[in-house]
Parts: sequence; C-alpha cells; structure tokens
Amino acid sequence: LNRRLAEFGTTVFAEMSALATATGAINLGQGFPDTDGPEQVREAAVRALRDGRGNQYPPGPGIPELRTAIAAHQSRRYGITLDPDREVLVTAGATEAIAASLLALVEPGDEVIALEPYYDSYAASIAMAGGTRVPVTLRPRDGAFRLDLDELRDAVTPRTRLLLLNTPHNPTGTVLTRAELTAIAELAVERDLLVVTDEVYEHLTFDDAEHIPLATLPGMRERTVTIGSAGKTFSFTGWKVGWVTAAPDLVTAARSAKQFLTYVSAGPFQYAVAEALRLPDSYFDAFRADMTTKRDLLAAGLTDAGFTVFRPRGTYFITTDVRPLGHDDGLAFCRTLPERCGVVAIPNAVFYDDREAGAPFVRFAFCKRPEVLADAVGRLRKAFA
Ligand code: PMP
Ligand code: GLN
Repeated sequence: LNRRLAEFGTTVFAEMSALATATGAINLGQGFPDTDGPEQVREAAVRALRDGRGNQYPPGPGIPELRTAIAAHQSRRYGITLDPDREVLVTAGATEAIAASLLALVEPGDEVIALEPYYDSYAASIAMAGGTRVPVTLRPRDGAFRLDLDELRDAVTPRTRLLLLNTPHNPTGTVLTRAELTAIAELAVERDLLVVTDEVYEHLTFDDAEHIPLATLPGMRERTVTIGSAGKTFSFTGWKVGWVTAAPDLVTAARSAKQFLTYVSAGPFQYAVAEALRLPDSYFDAFRADMTTKRDLLAAGLTDAGFTVFRPRGTYFITTDVRPLGHDDGLAFCRTLPERCGVVAIPNAVFYDDREAGAPFVRFAFCKRPEVLADAVGRLRKAFA
C-alpha cells in the first residue's frame, strides 16, 4: 500500500459490520436502512433489466433520462436550473462523486478544508488527489455540534483550493443554517474557493430544519459542486447511484476523472432512479416523517439508557457522548459493545484528525424498523441504565 493510503487501513464501516455479523449483534453502525425503497422503483429496475435497457455500457455521463430527472428534481425542490447535458454527471454513488471531484479539482499540495468529524472517504479521497486536509472541527454547544465561522475563516490560506462541506452532516446530525451557509459563501467568493458540498441527506431534515443547497446562495452557482445519492434518498444503498451537479466546466472536470475510475455507472438502476426522482412530494414527506419517528424512538431510548444525546436535525444518525456511562474512549466502547449487549455502533473518533476531540462520541444509526430499534434500546438500557 502506498504512503498516500497507508494511514487509512480498513474502513470502520466494514470493521463494524463484520463485527455485527460475527456476533449476531444488532447493527446500528453502518448507515443503511433495513427496509428497501419503494416497490415501484424496484419494479422499474426489473423492467429495465428485462427489457434490455442499460444491460450494455450506458453513456459515460449517465443515461439522458436520469440526467433530466436529476435536473428536474433540483428545479422542483430548490429552483436550481441545470442543463442535463452539461451540468449533471451520474456517478457510482456519492463516494465516486466525491473521489472524482477531488481527483479532478485538487492539485498536489493544495489544501482542502473539511468539517471535522468528516465522513471517512473524504480523507482518503483528498489523500489520493495528493491534497492536504485541513480539518475545521464542529464543537458541541447547547446540545448540538456547531461550526465556528472564525475558525473556518482562519483555516483558509493561500494554498486553500477547496472547501468540502457536508450538510445535513454525518455523523453529528447538524444542518447548516442559512446564516452559516451565507457566511461560507461569502468566504468562498472572497478567497476564490471552490466548494464541494455533499448533500446526500438533503431529504432527511427534521423539526424546523431546512436543507438549503449551497448552490442557491449568491455567487455560488459557478463555484459549487453538489453531490447527491439515490442510496440515501430512496433507500437503495446497494445500487450505488449518485450524482454531481455543477457548472459545465466543473462537471467536465469530474467526468474526466470518472471515466477512468468506473468509466460508466450500472445501467438498469439508472432507469429506476430516474423513476424514483419523479415520485411526488408525498414520497419525500412520508420518508421524512418515518425517519422522524425512528429518530425520536432511538433518541428517547439512548437518553433513558444514560447516554448524552445530540438530537440530530438531519441525517439518520445520532451522535452520543458516552462519558455519563463511565467511558471516555468511544473506540474501546464500540469494540466491546457487541459482546456486552449485542449492539454495534460507530466510534466518531475515526472521523477526526484530533482523535482526542472525538474520543467520547459514538454514533448510532436509526434507519431501522421500529421493532429493531426497540430491541436495541432494550439491550442498551439493560446494560447501562
Ligand atoms: N457522503 C456521506 C456523508 C455519507 O454518509 C455517505 C454514505 N452513504 C456517502 C457520502 C456515500 O454515499 P454512496 O453510498 O452513495 O456512495
Ligand atoms: N455512509 C454510511 C455511513 O456513514 C456508510 C457507507 C459506507 O459503508 N461506506 O454509515
């Protein structure tokens, strides 16, 4: 393994899912739903397969039908107008969208600012692109993880090429506010930075939280690369269909990288995702309502069991502090949790350069059936309450 990748080892999601399989524990680690997405969308995939649509190499940028559906979705939900031919690229999940964007836009030695804790593929993709990651840490304040805008401003240097944002934010559940996004946009314009914004949880916001795409803010349309994923929005994480939307030169750049990563993305699923994106607003409302119920169930259970809960305003994850349970090392906590009570969770420390800052935090996924969440909560209460 070369020096760029040596520090990353095996992703925590693989380690913890393997632990869940080996011990038979309830897996609240890796974020995937235990209920598949809409029947109608699955049927669309079957039809495409059967009718021979997409069984051979589809077009590199994605099938036109899907690119049109992505543009229509951005227009309908956010009022963003996109040219499906020049401003949309279909990728193998958001993971490839992130990698392709960074490989295409970062020069060796460039600094990339990422919110810490950061989704693990960010660090690896920055490293593969030869960039240097510069974390800006979200810190707990009044029950939520908050961005310090002064810290962000101070992190920008003449070498900074790009900001890598994520809202709604995995693992903290923070949703950046309009005021925060406006300040970020002003900084990007002032310092002439590109922004890659990972918005895969765009439809998972709760209470009064609103997802505001960065690309809608003044000055940002031409400098923002927005990333989405059917895995999260339609509960098909195994399909690996994601996308990039941006100005033509940025999409062309990402496509240059994508063509040598995967060349094209799997065909039949693209037809199905096009159909999914055309679902009425009632689908997205019901999805959000269902996840809100699940969040409330898990948040209440974790609180009862003695965890400090950071109530998420977005995503399908809850970050907790395990110190009230007498633990200060989340990594050790997660490694023994399956044996102790048959539950798997993710230690947030792996998403930090400053491991000490992340040490006491542990993430639980709530995209599971209510009876599974209730079972997990029962086990945790028995072990800790
Ligand atoms: N970004 C974030 C913040 C994520 O949580 C995930 C996990 N799904 C991804 C990107 C990767 O998405 P995909 O499965 O579409 O590659
Ligand atoms: N995004 C998912 C999570 O944060 C997992 C994706 C993965 O396994 N790489 O849990």
